[in-house]
Amino acid sequence: NTTLTIKDLHVAIDGKEILKGVNLEIKSGEFHAVMGPNGTGKSTLASAIMGHPKYEVTKGSVTLDGKDVLEMEVDERARAGLFLAMQYPSEISGVTNSDFLRSAINATRGEGNEIPLMKFIKKMDEKMELLDIDLNMAQRYVNEGFSGGEKKRNEILQLLMLDPKIAILDEIDSGLDIDALKVVAKGINSMRNSEFGCLIITHYQRLLNYITPDYVHVMMQGRIVKSGGPELARRLEAEGYDWIKKELGIED
Ligand code: ADP
Ligand code: MG
Ligand code: MG
Repeated sequence: NTTLTIKDLHVAIDGKEILKGVNLEIKSGEFHAVMGPNGTGKSTLASAIMGHPKYEVTKGSVTLDGKDVLEMEVDERARAGLFLAMQYPSEISGVTNSDFLRSAINATRGEGNEIPLMKFIKKMDEKMELLDIDLNMAQRYVNEGFSGGEKKRNEILQLLMLDPKIAILDEIDSGLDIDALKVVAKGINSMRNSEFGCLIITHYQRLLNYITPDYVHVMMQGRIVKSGGPELARRLEAEGYDWIKKELGIED
């Protein structure tokens, strides 16, 4: 069992406080969703966890099974079982998707424990089929000339191939048409097991029609202001965020 613990996290950008004390615990086996209006700090949460240098953690902690994630190098995080979609590059010239994925997997497995080539190929074929990805995409350069939808599918392919313990997926649904959205959801749902937990960050409820989260959290003004089950996402879809603002006396 693996647990990602976010405790009283405060994050500033250029000296301005954006996150004002976020508390969240994600265990393997659990699907969490963070929803919220635009500009409330959802992506800041993801970026801070990934260690983006622009995001200054001014207070609080992020730990994975008690180990300080914020002190880890990017490859250490991956080895510890954390997947942050954004940590993977948007484009790399001259490196095929297949080579990139194989070295990313091997980096998480460590020297002397590399994935056997045949096993890798088999797994990649299987996952590409599941995600309805054209087989020639394996030999294309990473994200070069990929459409928005292809990039998102490729991100899910990375997730399935790397098979992390905890994943943080920010706006994985943005810009997808309904068919691509269903495929992305199918990929994430295929990861559902007791060894895998994820945090799905999304502005829209739409994705959650296809992936049922166990927990839904609402972020406003840099804090998680409400948590509940899947019914909370449905209520947000039907009624928007105003009722929460009223309930909490938040002005914007
Ligand atoms: P969300 O993902 O919920 O839409 P963000 O985390 O992207 O919100 O943004 C939260 C706030 O932080 C916004 O006011 C935004 O303008 C600001 N912000 C985010 N990223 C940066 C950045 N790189 N530089 C300056 N301000 C930023
Ligand atoms: Mg935004
Ligand atoms: Mg965002």
